[in-house]
Amino acid sequence: MPVSFFRSKFTAFRCKKLGALFAMAGLLSMPSANSLSAPSPAKPKAVTDWCTPLVARLPKVSLNDCKNSKLNPTDANSLNGFPVLFRDIKADAKHPQAIRVLLLGGIHGDEQTASSIVFKWMETMQKSPLEFNWKIAPVVNPDGLLAPKPRRVNARGIDLNRNFPTPNWQKEAPSYWARVTRSDPRRYPGKAPISEPESRWVYETIEKYKPDVIISVHAPFGVLDFDGPTTPPNRFGRLIYNRVGVYPGSLGNYSGLHKDIPVVTIELPNATQMPPDAEVQRIWQDMQNWIRQNVAAPLKTSSN
Ligand SMILES: [Zn+2]
Repeated sequence: MPVSFFRSKFTAFRCKKLGALFAMAGLLSMPSANSLSAPSPAKPKAVTDWCTPLVARLPKVSLNDCKNSKLNPTDANSLNGFPVLFRDIKADAKHPQAIRVLLLGGIHGDEQTASSIVFKWMETMQKSPLEFNWKIAPVVNPDGLLAPKPRRVNARGIDLNRNFPTPNWQKEAPSYWARVTRSDPRRYPGKAPISEPESRWVYETIEKYKPDVIISVHAPFGVLDFDGPTTPPNRFGRLIYNRVGVYPGSLGNYSGLHKDIPVVTIELPNATQMPPDAEVQRIWQDMQNWIRQNVAAPLKTSSN
């Protein structure tokens, strides 16, 4: 399909159909993402602009905590114009070949602790030498978190964790939603995979950054889930390994089972109340140990 098709259609449909156009364009080779960018609504520009609304929603994260996390905007904006924020924190000089970890919080906007704990771990990371490279996005679904009442889905009502391009998505995701969830609006996968700017950012980050392991934090099931090619973790802190399930369009299904990138899903026990600080640190330590023993060594030898 020629580029002019998109341009002329883009002009005609403008913002309303932007998501669908992105989805279509993503399936073909898109000439330039910028040529399709719509002007965003007034978007926050400075760290205080981002942090003030975020910390109002995040248990145990102060404005200073948020500022000290030194997040940067990615080139992805939510549908409401809030940037997906990220930070790269590198391994120390003793680990020049360090593996890459992608740490994601808050893909579901009403799981506030899942974002808060990532801020807490970022604070820890900045205090001590690190053996892994981290790319961190503590609030993957800012519109869900910042909605008048925090909600799981993004501003268009899509469950981002059902919007990843697992094989046969078109066939499986909508029918699973209708049949198994009985069209639960909290689990709507959208009309096409990676139709949303937030899930598209995660997808593109996986393509470009090529993480060796992905950690995605959720709540409130109080377990660990795992998808992918290595040994699942037994426990992080008090959280015990217990499969939650495999869903069409989920990140674990997409990355763990189809991209062969191990994905640990951490389900904190409560979506609005943080675990005690000691437990936050135990989960962090156990996570490092598991990565060291199960991800770093085998993947490094196979890729070198
Ligand atoms: Zn969740």
